Amino acid sequence: MTTNETLLVVNPATGDPITTLPAASADDVAKAAEQARRAHDAGVWSRRPVRERAAVLLRLADLMERDAEILARLDSEDAGKPITECRTGDVPGAIETFRWFAEAADKAFGRIAPSAPDGLGLMSREPVGVGAAILPWNYPLAMTAWKVGPALAAGNCLLVKPAEATPRSALHLAALAAEAGLPDGVLTVLPGYGSEAGAALARDPLVGVLSFTGSTATGRRILKDAADSNFKRVSLEMGGKSPQVLMPDALAYGDELIDNMIEAAFLTMGQNCTAGSRVLVHRSIAEEVLERFTAAARELVIGRPADPRTQIGPLINHAAFDRVAGAVEAARDGGAQIHTGGLPHGLPPRGAYYPPTVITRAPAGSDVLTRELFGPVVTVQTFTTEDQAVRMANATEYGLAASVWTRDLDSAFRLARGIEAGVISVNAYSEGDITTPFGGWKQSGFGGVEKSTNAFEQWTREKAVWIRTR
Ligand code: NAD
Repeated sequence: MTTNETLLVVNPATGDPITTLPAASADDVAKAAEQARRAHDAGVWSRRPVRERAAVLLRLADLMERDAEILARLDSEDAGKPITECRTGDVPGAIETFRWFAEAADKAFGRIAPSAPDGLGLMSREPVGVGAAILPWNYPLAMTAWKVGPALAAGNCLLVKPAEATPRSALHLAALAAEAGLPDGVLTVLPGYGSEAGAALARDPLVGVLSFTGSTATGRRILKDAADSNFKRVSLEMGGKSPQVLMPDALAYGDELIDNMIEAAFLTMGQNCTAGSRVLVHRSIAEEVLERFTAAARELVIGRPADPRTQIGPLINHAAFDRVAGAVEAARDGGAQIHTGGLPHGLPPRGAYYPPTVITRAPAGSDVLTRELFGPVVTVQTFTTEDQAVRMANATEYGLAASVWTRDLDSAFRLARGIEAGVISVNAYSEGDITTPFGGWKQSGFGGVEKSTNAFEQWTREKAVWIRTR
């Protein structure tokens, strides 16, 4: 990133510049919001028959499929994500998201109130008008799809601000949307800085709903700006420090358990909001789990993101490296044991590579236990009772996700009930599929507002129409 007028997109694997783009100013945001409002008022999208809107979005999904390799490459290059992850996860997931919301659009019915005989109460859901989406860099296309899919399917016009580091897949998506027949002014992508373009969206008086995914600190700022401007509705998807809870019988799942633990911990180099960064394991199996998990972490293939064999690419930048390395070294100084990883040796010379790292005996209150490090670092702690496991799982200001491993159904239910998190997976590491809501509790957000039919509630307003009958 060079000046406030331009965005420099850098390849995290090499540090080489990829491209320079004009950065949207506050003025650009205001103009885009006015254009979106005009498009909304003209009804070019909002009043188009819902089946026609769905057809445009299905065409968009087909065009994404045509350009799947381009989209995968853009995210891999901008974010340093392993290309295989983009090809098999992010891009197909984004395409499915558009298809699902297109197909769901005309199945969202209103309601009729059980009113007195002389009246008829009709509740309909209507688009908010102009919406905004502010995005993080770790799942650039996938997070864009989670917001653009339901927002457009519900009939809104949308302004999208991708993260500074990863604007290109959202820009390509907007070009494909135009090719699919989306009218002008309905979807505008505004690459820019958070402090300028992001803040302008949060304060804009024409934006009626804003969906944010990113850090808790930025979410707090956006909520204040919304309150200080027009009380736009805000949804927040923020950080996490998610536990993986392994009960005494968890090893019955064998390699499947270890594979899922590895994915939970190290997918996207741990730069994942739902990363299972705290393993809580019953004392009776702790030694074997630690040994197998550490061995599997050592086997992960570190390399260039463009190499299909690569499982671990670089962190997004050197500031992220310093944050992760600083927390791990502080824990080591405080008496923690590093089983694998720690300060890297023999890694690719350029790019902020940090190896998968497994830690035990982390000092109470240390950053590795309490802060969202957003890197490939996992702590392992032991417990002896289920109650203790729940207390440890909940000992965080976040509440995004958790996984629980046991064959004991009663125990699984008790843990799933007791853990304060928006998304809990049992005997899997998963966020569910497109049909299940996604969202965090506590300082991770306002609950499940993404994916599923819940997303329509986020992007629409309910209106009650009271008809007096005689
Ligand atoms: P970030 O908060 O730094 O940035 C997110 C977005 O907010 C960027 O587009 C940025 O430009 C913008 N922004 C920054 N300052 C702003 C301001 N004052 N006003 C408006 N917008 C502003 O987060 P990040 O580093 O890009 O992403 C990592 C974070 O995202 C992690 O905390 C991660 O847990 C979280 N995340 C959460 C989810 C989820 O669904 N809960 C998913 C992915 C990532």
